[in-house]
Amino acid sequence: MKPKALEREKARVEALIKRWQTPMGLGYWRIDRTYWQTAAEFRAWDKDQDDDNTVLVACPDWRYMQCTIHVNCEATAELSDWALEQDIVHELAHCHIDELRWLFAEVTPDVRNHIEHVTEAVAKALVWTRNEIDGTDHITPDGAAKTREAAC
Ligand SMILES: [Zn+2]
Repeated sequence: MKPKALEREKARVEALIKRWQTPMGLGYWRIDRTYWQTAAEFRAWDKDQDDDNTVLVACPDWRYMQCTIHVNCEATAELSDWALEQDIVHELAHCHIDELRWLFAEVTPDVRNHIEHVTEAVAKALVWTRNEIDGTDHITPDGAAKTREAAC
């Protein structure tokens, strides 16, 4: 990935985290980002990942209210602004929901699937609620809210 494309992906992700962190009750959280320039580097870091199409991974530590979001920049470059926003809200929702993992002696695939489903349902509900309230369709890379009318 060329430097200019990498900077574009960083800007898209940063705008979305800036837009959603505080409204999602994470204003007091420390949200770090790690930007992986290539999908190969991302996969090498996340050897346990069984899905080659993974775009983002959140590693929250609810005890200390901090999280690192790992970004596969080659994969984000393939996403529309709308899809990237859904994924960022999903990763931020993990900050609240991953605490439930600690209730299980073992995080089996079944437990993991339930946690993913709840996280995705919450993320979609948040985005849909925002869209219904202010008519926003998605956040653009420059951080502006794009309304449905403007998106057409
Ligand atoms: Zn997830």
